Amino acid sequence: MTNKDLADLIFPNIKSTIKDLEERYPERNLNPNAMVTRFAPSPTGFLHTGSLFTSLVSYRFAKQSGGVFYIRLEDTDTKREIEGSGAELVKQLKVFGVIPDEGYISDTEEKGSYGPYKQSNRSEIYNTVIKYLIEIGRAYPCFATSEELAKLREEQTARKEIPGYYGKYAIYRDYPIDEAYNRIKNGDPYIIRFKSMGNHNNKIAFHDEIRGDLELTENDQDIVILKGDGLPTYHFAHLCDDHFMHTTVVTRGEEWLPSLPIHLELFDTLGFKRPRYAHFPVIMKVDNGVRRKLSKRKDNEAAVEFFLKSGYPKYGFIEYLLTIANSNYEEWRDQNKDKSYNDFMLSFEKMSLDGALFDLEKVESISKERMAYRKASVLADEVLDWASIYEPEFANRISRNKEFFTSILNIEREKENPRKDYAKYSDIYPIISFMYSDVYDSIDKSSLDLTVKVGKKDTKEVSKAVVVEFLKKYMENYNLDVTEEEWFENMKQIAESMKFTSDRKAYKENPDEYYGQVGDAAGFIRLAIAGRKSTPNIYYVQKILGYDEVLRRVNVTIDILSK
Ligand code: GLU
Repeated sequence: MTNKDLADLIFPNIKSTIKDLEERYPERNLNPNAMVTRFAPSPTGFLHTGSLFTSLVSYRFAKQSGGVFYIRLEDTDTKREIEGSGAELVKQLKVFGVIPDEGYISDTEEKGSYGPYKQSNRSEIYNTVIKYLIEIGRAYPCFATSEELAKLREEQTARKEIPGYYGKYAIYRDYPIDEAYNRIKNGDPYIIRFKSMGNHNNKIAFHDEIRGDLELTENDQDIVILKGDGLPTYHFAHLCDDHFMHTTVVTRGEEWLPSLPIHLELFDTLGFKRPRYAHFPVIMKVDNGVRRKLSKRKDNEAAVEFFLKSGYPKYGFIEYLLTIANSNYEEWRDQNKDKSYNDFMLSFEKMSLDGALFDLEKVESISKERMAYRKASVLADEVLDWASIYEPEFANRISRNKEFFTSILNIEREKENPRKDYAKYSDIYPIISFMYSDVYDSIDKSSLDLTVKVGKKDTKEVSKAVVVEFLKKYMENYNLDVTEEEWFENMKQIAESMKFTSDRKAYKENPDEYYGQVGDAAGFIRLAIAGRKSTPNIYYVQKILGYDEVLRRVNVTIDILSK
């Protein structure tokens, strides 16, 4: 009885060889610097912020080097699988422009000639390689039960030895072939393990693209490569996949660094060229002064859906992720205001090592900044797309009169220093809703705020009669066919004629001599037109509403104040 007999018994239907696979998946025809990268999600749920970060950066590395980016679905852990989540992940990535050149699209669709791209459809490939490893004596069936393994672990812990299945503890590693053969024939359950030749007293040198030169402890564990359900483990599957799909740089989270020695031993044993590895920092957050990993359970911001739903513009979020990817991104952005973030060249050297810190305020400020420079018509489309999914009523409003909505968005936009009012699409409606007449009419105006400031902290109330008088005068002299400066000047004259002063100092010294300042008078115009004192630029608000509507609103307010 030989290893070959054992291999044939275990894989009677596997006729292909590694050589056949090499022919089926030839080297890619790319220039030497082109990177082949991939995103290899497990279909276990929603798109995690960390996964978007990893996939976005991997995608950019492939694109900027003229290479290939592909998606591979790692669905060998059937217990954790959530149905449909694989295709959902691909869709969400697409929203962020992370569109693979090849790979898994959905459970029934894929593109590219290095597939299948879904691990559960790749058994023939894994089994071919495992069959070969059994033949050369570097993989073997293991019949240990979970009770036996638990007992082994207990013993090792008691003796303060390294836990695991290795060396003398690997009881089935030198099991007679005949016995293994007969037990398998008898239908005994088993799994397949890799036979490691490593020694944990040895160190191996390794160069990580981000972390530089590392010294790692050699692997000596006989890890499981094929599980009882006939599917491979991650360690083994990624070896086969990254080899036959010709990944040049494996980009993945740093949580995989400890198992890297296993991966290196597997590559070397098979004589496969090792890919380069770049272990990305994990995204952290500060919680009560303590740094910890962003958690799916505890943190809203761990789910990409949170940002989509809140209406952060995707370009804002992407740029934020680029700032945590490369420390020089912001400087580049400052110097290249008109360029697309896609023009930025990412580099492994500029990646942080010790966990990127997630900062929601920064997402806000970047989004605010980028959104301010969108053209009104472009922004209007973005908001409509977002609202159609998350705020259908708002979407209807926009669609009913898109021009009106666009003109509101255009207030103090499309100029050198645009106003930075909105960090996300959901910020817009609360700020501008008063522009719609029905919303204005439904505002409770029973207690309009007629207070004005006196000094830093104190306030006083202007009488209703004074406000009414001012509003009347303002409307009598209403003229918006002038520049903003001229409009303000006219309004100021009316205000000053009524003891609202533009002399700050005089007001400070003798506040009782005046009702308030000119700014306070302007505040009453806002109050009348919007029902509150803070609004987008009131000159433009009036222009958009038009004289009739402004007059109507002022009259409504005068009526209320005159009661
Ligand atoms: N399926 C693995 C994960 O989701 C992929 C790791 C890798 O990119 O190799 O963590």
